[in-house]
Amino acid sequence: MTLTVLNPATEQPIAELEQAGIEELDEAVSRAEAAFPGWRAVSVADRARLLRRLAGLVEEHAEELARIESQNVGKPIAGARGEVAMVANVFHFYAGAVDKHHGETIPVDGGVDVTFREPLGICGLIVPWNFPLNIASWKLGPALACGNTVVLKPAELTPLSALRLAELALEAGIPEGVLNVVVGPGRVVGQRLVEHPDVAKIAFTGSTEVGAGVMRGAADTIKRVSLELGGKSANLVFADADLERAAAAAPYAVFDNAGQDCCARSRILVQRTVWDRFVGLLVDSTAGVRVGDPSDESTEMGPLISAQHRETVSSYVDGNVVYRGNTPEGPGFWFPCTLVEASNDDRVAREEVFGPVAALIPFEDEAEAIALANDTPYGLSGSIWTRDGARALRVARAVDTGVLSVNSNSSVRVATPFGGFKQSGFGRELGMHALEGYSEVKNLFLSTEA
Ligand code: NAD
Repeated sequence: MTLTVLNPATEQPIAELEQAGIEELDEAVSRAEAAFPGWRAVSVADRARLLRRLAGLVEEHAEELARIESQNVGKPIAGARGEVAMVANVFHFYAGAVDKHHGETIPVDGGVDVTFREPLGICGLIVPWNFPLNIASWKLGPALACGNTVVLKPAELTPLSALRLAELALEAGIPEGVLNVVVGPGRVVGQRLVEHPDVAKIAFTGSTEVGAGVMRGAADTIKRVSLELGGKSANLVFADADLERAAAAAPYAVFDNAGQDCCARSRILVQRTVWDRFVGLLVDSTAGVRVGDPSDESTEMGPLISAQHRETVSSYVDGNVVYRGNTPEGPGFWFPCTLVEASNDDRVAREEVFGPVAALIPFEDEAEAIALANDTPYGLSGSIWTRDGARALRVARAVDTGVLSVNSNSSVRVATPFGGFKQSGFGRELGMHALEGYSEVKNLFLSTEA
């Protein structure tokens, strides 16, 4: 079975690939299994050196990787360059982390107690199409640093950057079999990876619906699972905020990556006393988002990933549309920046749209802002805009999400933990926290009795 990979900005094929089935997936697991004893035995300094070399190769090939990602996902080239820079930084970070992820000595009677961090074995990494290389690196960095071998399954729509990264890993000197990429349908090879008895862990990023199936599928073999799932994050704008700054930043927190971002602040909650002024400013700043050809250096938003996804996104736009932007003519899965006035009970405010559609919702006071922000099954990210530092802290502690920012909409950094509360998943990626998810604690007691 072949897979035709499209450029969503042109609807033209950019690659034809052979798709793997169960047999090829099993072969990849066998290769990872064969490589595991050798990889875990590589000295700490050498493992760090190899990861650093991979980071260096990503930097050397940054423009090539950014173009692959831009063409395959429809991402603006400037954004794709930033993502590739992060991929290199992720490998640099975990190269530096290898010898800092250590055990403890614990005071006990009659001897000495020490803990070790042991690798899990084979890790299955399943990633989505919205940030293919970035999200793969968030899993690969800590998995490889801890001494695991991996089978990486990219999304069917966007396999190209993962395949290129696997070539660079070999060029860096990471041994054959340590990083295996399998391109194939999620419900076939993804499912098999989840159920495979020799796979120790599944690190999954994707929708909450598929994530629930991953958890069920992993149960029979008691696999470790980490899940990075959907979101419906709130951007809380209080009356005392710098409204100009908040309004200038808000569009990029929803329309970046054409809204196909699990962290999208797709519910913009605005204190009623400044509603008219803020919405006016927001419409102006949204009108300034440059939508168009992803290869153009100045483009800020490209198309959606597929025709089918465009259908889904458009089904959310009803009710009071406050603003609808323009899109290029001709081929491409374009969808305009859209602002909709909504209540928190509307479908557009409850479900993850995963497109450039923001729900604008008024609130009266701090208590209602917190209640609305938490009235969602998700809990991934969010923002709080206020000049009152005590309020910022109060609200931040009360909002049930894994990643928050004050007077900013950025949530993702190489050195800081990233992940969700509630149905946005569990486990943390990035920073030192991610290493916990790719190692097992072994406790050893040594008697000192004569
Ligand atoms: P998806 O759940 O459809 O697919 C994700 C991956 O799972 C793909 O590789 C797919 O092939 C695979 N898959 C599908 N069915 C499977 C099965 N039965 N068993 C095993 N694997 C299977 O998600 P998507 O449409 O690719 O991505 C969009 C979703 O990802 C959104 O919900 C978004 O919020 C979420 N996401 C979350 C984060 C995060 O860090 N929390 C980051 C990015 C995207």
